[in-house]
Amino acid sequence: MTTTAHLTPLNDTHDPTLTSWLASAQAPGCDFPIQNLPHGVFRRKGKSEAWRGGVAIGDQVLDMAAASGAGVFSGPAARAAQAAGGASLNALMALGAPAWRALRQALSEVLRTGSPHEAALRGCLVAQDDCEFTLPARIGDYTDFYTSIYHATNVGKLFRPDNPLMPNYKWVPIGYHGRASTVVVSGQDFRRPQGQTLPPGASEPRFGPCQRLDYELELGIWMGSGNAMGEPIALADAEHHVFGLTLLNDWSARDIQAWEYQPLGPFLSKNFATTVSPWIVTLEALAPYRLPYQRPAGDPAPLPYLEDAVNRAQGSLDIQLEVQLTTPQMQARGDAPAVLARTSYRHAYWTLAQLVAHHTVGGCAMQPGDLLGTGTLSGPTATEAGALLELTVGGKQPVALPGGETRTFLQDGDTVGLAAWCERPGAARIGFGPCTGTILAALS
Ligand code: CA
Repeated sequence: MTTTAHLTPLNDTHDPTLTSWLASAQAPGCDFPIQNLPHGVFRRKGKSEAWRGGVAIGDQVLDMAAASGAGVFSGPAARAAQAAGGASLNALMALGAPAWRALRQALSEVLRTGSPHEAALRGCLVAQDDCEFTLPARIGDYTDFYTSIYHATNVGKLFRPDNPLMPNYKWVPIGYHGRASTVVVSGQDFRRPQGQTLPPGASEPRFGPCQRLDYELELGIWMGSGNAMGEPIALADAEHHVFGLTLLNDWSARDIQAWEYQPLGPFLSKNFATTVSPWIVTLEALAPYRLPYQRPAGDPAPLPYLEDAVNRAQGSLDIQLEVQLTTPQMQARGDAPAVLARTSYRHAYWTLAQLVAHHTVGGCAMQPGDLLGTGTLSGPTATEAGALLELTVGGKQPVALPGGETRTFLQDGDTVGLAAWCERPGAARIGFGPCTGTILAALS
């Protein structure tokens, strides 16, 4: 057995020299070259069409319902292609990793330069600019983790300067059960939440609009095939159960959170909106960007159910992450978004395989379409902070924006965008597409 036995191997679909007959797939900086092939659910804007699954390629969406009917797929890939054209991707997720791999291989072949199927598939393309998107799957359950030790330390310092990191942090992947009903897709705006807060120095709470509205830069992990209740997913099998990754913004009401979070953790401060990007980048597409999983010298080794050689050798992913902000003034001037932070998923303290293994170790059942958030992904330096709470040191140091504006927390009309991409020598650059949301005024 090699040390990569339970991870997706590299194959010809990752070849950086591979090109598509669709020229826009080769455009510099394009998120969706033929090496990516992420899945989503779409329809043409302004039409009362049915939602159906699609695959992003260049500036187009390959309509998988249409492509599946075009007769270009055969064998296991044909069954997977049909599931990939459904109104939600749960059926595709349930098929499992061998089916996802067969479909990726087939998609790569039919979209390649020189494919005999170009003519049949050109009629199955819809321009991304003409599309609207919905959640790619019905989410049964949503869990949010806390896997950045830098985020946990930065936030902990604000509340407990002498003891920022809780003693369980290096042993347990910390998480809480979130709310699936208010997970929305990129582009869907939402109202500033109202709730109870305790103003500084006050002895009783007030009720009103959140004054400290924040974003959280996260990745979402979409579960594929599930497990039966009482039968944990072992670390070595964990990645076979993960369909892919998406961007995730876990919007947070910090003043509501500060008042409500003890002793059971965040509640209404987190359940008013969570935004995901429309495209799910498969784990197989991410295979070229793996890194060893490392812990700082002196930190405890994970307990045996969270530790093995493969996870150590390749359990981390080098995914570049960015937060962008556009204020109403910037939008009016036509300014480009301001980049607030940049970091990488490589800094996470726990790997995604460890999150899945830990989540199920007590017997919890996962289902296709369950969503796990990584938790805010902050890196080791101050400019790599994945939330305003950290960037502004609890609201004490405003962030300066182009044009002279500043922010401590988000204001009405502000648009937050997240971006993610992978690049390294010898591999294609692939991206995750947009993940944006705009803050609307609170209910009056
Ligand atoms: Ca979070």
